[in-house]
Amino acid sequence: MIVIKFGGSSVRDAHWIGQVVDIASDRLAQAPVLVSSAMGKTTDRLLGIAASAAAGDRAHAENEISGLELLHTEAAEQLASGREHERVAARLETLFGELRSLVNGLVLIKECTPRTQDAILAFGELLSTTVIAAAARERGIDCRLLDSRDFIRTDENFTAAVPDFAATDDLVRRLVPAESGKLLVVQGFIAATEKGVTTTLGRGGSDWSATIIGGALGADEVQIWTDVDGIMTADPRIIDGAMTVPAISYEEAAELAYFGAKVVHPSTIQPAIRRRIPVWVKNTGNPVSPGTRISELSDRKGLAALASKKGITIITVASSRMLHAHGFMSRIFSVFAEHRISVDLVTTSEVTISTTVEGRLDLGPVIQDLEQYGSVSVESGKAIVSLVGRSLWRTGSFTARVFSALSSISVRMISLGSSDINLSLVVNEGDADLAVRALHDEFFSASASVAAASALPPKDAT
Ligand code: ASP
Ligand code: MG
Repeated sequence: MIVIKFGGSSVRDAHWIGQVVDIASDRLAQAPVLVSSAMGKTTDRLLGIAASAAAGDRAHAENEISGLELLHTEAAEQLASGREHERVAARLETLFGELRSLVNGLVLIKECTPRTQDAILAFGELLSTTVIAAAARERGIDCRLLDSRDFIRTDENFTAAVPDFAATDDLVRRLVPAESGKLLVVQGFIAATEKGVTTTLGRGGSDWSATIIGGALGADEVQIWTDVDGIMTADPRIIDGAMTVPAISYEEAAELAYFGAKVVHPSTIQPAIRRRIPVWVKNTGNPVSPGTRISELSDRKGLAALASKKGITIITVASSRMLHAHGFMSRIFSVFAEHRISVDLVTTSEVTISTTVEGRLDLGPVIQDLEQYGSVSVESGKAIVSLVGRSLWRTGSFTARVFSALSSISVRMISLGSSDINLSLVVNEGDADLAVRALHDEFFSASASVAAASALPPKDAT
């Protein structure tokens, strides 16, 4: 069987949903499970609705709900007719009725807990899959719409719930009967606790749903359908000449996702690695393009792609006592752990430790706790630029080329060596795009590929 997952932009209107149904219909023999995100920007709009409702702004919330209703009913009208249209229209009406009552409740109590937010966000995927299933049936496809909350089981960490893989694997195997000739349609992103309370897997979590389901069913492959031709050598919004990377390892893909390449959600790779399932990233708008294959093996050595992540803050703790002091680092890290703040990069000297964290978090409390171990300084407005590939530091010329390409940019932190697949640099946010461009020119322009090929390490270097 295969899993085919479509992102919000791939299902943004009737035309795109039509493409999605084409793609699914071409793959019926492979027993597809179709996982979908919410239509277009629906999740953002639902968040706005929750916020307005909690602020008591009934008019704005109602206005937005009507907008979403129009989006879905129009798509349903264009994609289904007759009995099929009556069915989907009735189902949409029920869902919007439920959403309105929930939102009315929020307006009355003027608050939105994480648990309630998840209940509201879930409507996005429930609505989109209702329309997609109707469109597939209208085409004569034997299609069943399932509810992912019946088989993706998570903890109660609302808005960023974590799956219970043992329970989920078992439920998916029992309740998701993939079969050749049939299409199963399920929601990405949404799940439920053991008690049946709705949760979500965190923003962008539909990719993760796809590999969770694919992992449980031992899929032949998981296809992530999006709006670009695969994983690119750099963000095409920054680099005109960005190229598709044909094949990449799980580790490289995970590293790229974590360090800012928005193609797949960072947790997506983990369930695929467990069962060694290849993950393809493909373009719904250009289905003939082969896309990127993420798998265990990729012969390619050297640089695969660049990623960057803005809005980074550096926190430096300087202790006069670090000299020979045992446990300084572990104390610093336990402070971050207590505050559930994840640290991306770390560099140390004899008396200081610098770490990077995402700047939009409220760092006040963690800084206060760090101050008991030394003087703390905070630098915001930074960006991480990452070069991801294989056997990177095995060629001496690699780092030389990186730093000569960046000679006009000031580099504040460098992290290389904990693995040979990622060199990360911290620069000022304003220099990040410039740095990506300089590096892309150096390593991926036509003249660069000749130089890069000759700089590859010998085959037995790994
Ligand atoms: N609809 C959710 C979001 O926008 C999940 C997803 O698209 O993957 O975050
Ligand atoms: Mg998405």
